[in-house]
Amino acid sequence: MGKEFNPTEYQKTLRQIFLQEQRNLPTDLQKSTDTVVPKEIITTEFPAMIQVGLSTVCNMRCPECYYCEFQKSPNFHPTFMSPQIYRKIIDEVGKFPETTLLRYLGRGESLTHPNIIEMVGEAKGGIKGKVALITNGLLMADKKACALLETGIDVVDFSVDATTSETYALVRGGRFDVLTSSIENFINLRNEGNYPTRIMASFLIQPENYHEAEEFREVWKGKVDKVIFRRYHSYAGKIQEKACVPEERHACASLWNRVNINESGRITLCYIDWDETSVIADLNDPEITILGTWRNSYEEARKGHISGELPEICASCQTGWQAAHWQLSYERAVNMVTEK
Ligand code: SF4
Ligand code: SF4
Repeated sequence: MGKEFNPTEYQKTLRQIFLQEQRNLPTDLQKSTDTVVPKEIITTEFPAMIQVGLSTVCNMRCPECYYCEFQKSPNFHPTFMSPQIYRKIIDEVGKFPETTLLRYLGRGESLTHPNIIEMVGEAKGGIKGKVALITNGLLMADKKACALLETGIDVVDFSVDATTSETYALVRGGRFDVLTSSIENFINLRNEGNYPTRIMASFLIQPENYHEAEEFREVWKGKVDKVIFRRYHSYAGKIQEKACVPEERHACASLWNRVNINESGRITLCYIDWDETSVIADLNDPEITILGTWRNSYEEARKGHISGELPEICASCQTGWQAAHWQLSYERAVNMVTEK
């Protein structure tokens, strides 16, 4: 760890950062997460976010991520989502209202998919809601950046997590200077071409980098459209549990706002379940739909969170539910930044 970890300072930083973020929300959403009680939780007719993993291949081995272990497991196979499964997802999400966001985030780097540009184009032409990509940014060469901007993608979110190359090496590895110039280049291309794409820079707060969080906001706020903060989680105990903060357990927002689809077409209860121990449906089965899964299997898990009878994966999860913020949801951040 670059700087000695001070748990009190860490918790103070988390509190300050997320209070500041909440102040940017409409006033009715400015209450704290602790005040969210089950009776106030409303399940939407359609999921607010469909999270799609396109690839299990990654060009990085970030210490903050489960990928290092995942790719060593005997069950690991480099997999790209097939055109058939992707088409099935787009066809169904195309029937959902514009309030449903399609977000590329999975068990690898989406830009490694050989057909990523065509797939984003297909989504932009096929669904009513927004389309967003999170990326480590290191594969965003000029040609790919231009092609991506041409698709009209709504949001590109770069995972940065540091303001210095030393901290970047600790939490992510890779070349910090390559990443920052890749982001700056993407911003310039977007501006020169007057593309509608909104750009985010994100920071996953954890013991190794919390001292850089405020500085991160200052560095990026004038350059990107939104600086976004997240809380560290341990993939339900699969990597070091280093950022647990004492908090009263509450229902996990993740189950109320997103459906997670892996590259395989399997739907897991939670996006942090990389080992697929919580598969609740498989889109390879022609009878299975996203909406049916949302209304049945997810509903069962939601009831468990309200009654306190947690699904197995959730019972072993110490920090994921803390990271899934009720008010500061990702789809809300996308809506705010694209409405600017
Ligand atoms: S955090 Fe993202 S870029 Fe880093 S190893 Fe995990 S999947 Fe790859
Ligand atoms: S409690 Fe943890 S495992 Fe369960 S849905 Fe939330 S983040 Fe996922």
